[in-house]
Amino acid sequence: MGIALFTLGGTISMAGAARLDGAALTAAVPGLETLDEPLDIQDLEPVGSGSLTFAQVLAVAESASAAVRAGAPGVVITQGTDTLEETAYLLDLVWAQDAPLVLTGAMRNPTLAGPDGPANLLAAARVAAAAPARGLGALVVFNDEIHAARWVRKTHSTSTATFVSPDTGPLGHVIEGRVRVLTAPVRCAPLPPPTAGARVALYTVTLDDDPDTLTALAAGQDAVVLAGFGVGHVPAVLVPALAELAARMPVVLTSRTGAGSVLRSTYRSPGSETELLSHGLIDGGLLHPYKARVLLRLLLGSGADRDAVAAAFAERG
Ligand code: ASP
Repeated sequence: MGIALFTLGGTISMAGAARLDGAALTAAVPGLETLDEPLDIQDLEPVGSGSLTFAQVLAVAESASAAVRAGAPGVVITQGTDTLEETAYLLDLVWAQDAPLVLTGAMRNPTLAGPDGPANLLAAARVAAAAPARGLGALVVFNDEIHAARWVRKTHSTSTATFVSPDTGPLGHVIEGRVRVLTAPVRCAPLPPPTAGARVALYTVTLDDDPDTLTALAAGQDAVVLAGFGVGHVPAVLVPALAELAARMPVVLTSRTGAGSVLRSTYRSPGSETELLSHGLIDGGLLHPYKARVLLRLLLGSGADRDAVAAAFAERG
């Protein structure tokens, strides 16, 4: 059996009004015929990545696992780039196989000069088939770089070099078609797929914020991810509302900066990380707010209580 290729939608498949299916996508890739492993294509619903749901992504994970169990050495998923940093992390959290699960897409559609989709697809297929990529979990291959799903971010709205891992750098590169893995991410045990839905809001604090906005957003939610200033700070005026919220539901503290960790005990001023954690907020560590929301929603969907959520963030944050 060859490498399993699952196609969703996104820029990589957008040829004007028409959508390229897997056969058309692969036909446009010079060099694909040189791969040792053929591609076994499964076209899925060509939905834009902004409209993907957890259920759809988890269904892809299940189909990808089935393909590996049936003998596929690795899996490639093409999708839109907008939510790829979240879908990749969700897939990574549940992926229980050694086989590489590789996501890619494109920033320039096939009708433009210099579309990046074909090169990204070829590099992704090479990584999916590569022995050194085994055991690394879900990977994002883009612009000839290999990124861990845990760390990768979309950082630019149009650049073909949009995917970067600000905290770690890439795990490796594809060089002259050769897969070079330079470093391996720390992997945690796979999480069970959720058995129920969960509503998790993401709230980003801003200058001169007010608690009413936060309280209104949190109404009807099961949990909140808070993207705080810098190392995990909020305006002092938000603290009572956050304390009250954290007494009712998990509230995970992350940084809105996009790189680096929230702290635990450096600042003690009103609205500081020390004060927020003393009120029961959960330390999100190095997790970006978007990824923290993915983890929190997955945990709550499989019945985790506040202590289990805190333990999971202590391990994975
Ligand atoms: N809006 C597109 C999507 O995420 C953008 C892309 O593919 O890059 O589906």
